[in-house]
Amino acid sequence: MKVVVTGGAGFIGANLCRELMARPGIDEVVALDDLSTGRVDNLEGSGADLVEGSILDQGLVSDVLADADAVVHLAARPSIPRSLAAPVASHAANATGTLLLLEACRRRSVHVVAASSSSVYGGVPDLPKHEDLPTRPLSPYGASKLAAEAYVLAYGASFGLPVLALRFFNVYGPLQPADHAYAAVVPAFIDGALRGEPLTVHGDGSQTRDFTYVGTVVAVLADSVLRGVTSARPVNLAFGTRVSILELTGRLSAVLGRPVEVVHVPPRPGDVHDSQAADGRLRRLFPGIEAVPLETGLERTVAWF
Ligand code: NAD
Repeated sequence: MKVVVTGGAGFIGANLCRELMARPGIDEVVALDDLSTGRVDNLEGSGADLVEGSILDQGLVSDVLADADAVVHLAARPSIPRSLAAPVASHAANATGTLLLLEACRRRSVHVVAASSSSVYGGVPDLPKHEDLPTRPLSPYGASKLAAEAYVLAYGASFGLPVLALRFFNVYGPLQPADHAYAAVVPAFIDGALRGEPLTVHGDGSQTRDFTYVGTVVAVLADSVLRGVTSARPVNLAFGTRVSILELTGRLSAVLGRPVEVVHVPPRPGDVHDSQAADGRLRRLFPGIEAVPLETGLERTVAWF
């Protein structure tokens, strides 16, 4: 089996390439990545082949997909603040890029497993977020991910393409970078705590997130590919474990075995206050899946730093 991973040199993508190469039944993994946020070293020793280029390059996408059985589509500009700074670039990579990829897959009937995002729920206050709730993105990033997800499901409905759109929540773990202004909260906190610096909390820290360890995410993605899992409706990929940002600082302090200091700064525009997944649909499609608990995931992530 040949699997293409778009965004394969990124955080989730490189973890996935390793997982796929370790699974019996998968002979070839190709990472297609423009290295805009991904890194060549992320794939070192993974056994996956890297093709450097953009999903917006239709000729290249067509070549890379030749003989592929499945594509896991992770390539995107994945940050809310970056999308506020450059909404059109965010749309091009996330929405147009997905559409062009789907066109190539349609011609070959390739199974498409695509990363959507909890940001599609945006301003909808209901908790937990179940997939039949309305969507109301609060950022250009959320809007672009919703457009991408809608295209994936529409290609399933219109052309019979085998598709699965998974709404990732807050994914964390090894390979997630801490060294830039748009760093996600877990690596930013670990990096700060290991340097002995105070952790920056936006707002009062009561905002909640549903954190998923990357090992759990890639296990679901690999299983999707190997079993050819499809769904006509979007599926949350998180397990309903809601933790506040202040609570996260406490858990991290417990893992590190020392206190951490916190400084509060104003809330960020476009951020939602609460996030928690309903996991019923995920568990029906993946009955065997076990989520790595937050403490274990934090320990493994700290060990990688
Ligand atoms: P990442 O930035 O590490 O990975 C994205 C990868 O896509 C990078 O390697 C980047 O170089 C590549 N890329 C960007 N534009 C491209 C293009 N035009 N052509 C080819 N490659 C391109 O981020 P990640 O956290 O690994 O995110 C992976 C996917 O998961 C994204 O689709 C993101 O929207 C989604 N997601 C992530 C989270 C999370 O918590 N990390 C949450 C929700 C959704």
